[in-house]
Amino acid sequence: MFSKPRVTKADRKGTFKCPDCLAVCRVTQNKYITATYKESYASCTNDHCGGRYVFASEPVRVLVPSQTPNLKLHIPLAAGVRPLSFDDGQLDLDLTQSQKGT
Ligand SMILES: [Zn+2]
Repeated sequence: MFSKPRVTKADRKGTFKCPDCLAVCRVTQNKYITATYKESYASCTNDHCGGRYVFASEPVRVLVPSQTPNLKLHIPLAAGVRPLSFDDGQLDLDLTQSQKGT
């Protein structure tokens, strides 16, 4: 019989796991090194561990392209994601149609 792995506090969004004892690490400071690369200083909440770490985070793949892209960034698209073009979505609104009816 299949059983789900237990979700711990350290698995919640926005937290880090202690790499040594796997307890939750409390972030004490965030520092942006560049516009997209952040380092987080964190301390393990397990009193018996006492580990302190610097974690790194940055975007690695685009899942949904931004409607307001920063053209200076070059973040690779995830597999199966196509780049946004002017033929997509909202830019095709015909505003003259709504004005004719009122
Ligand atoms: Zn720890």
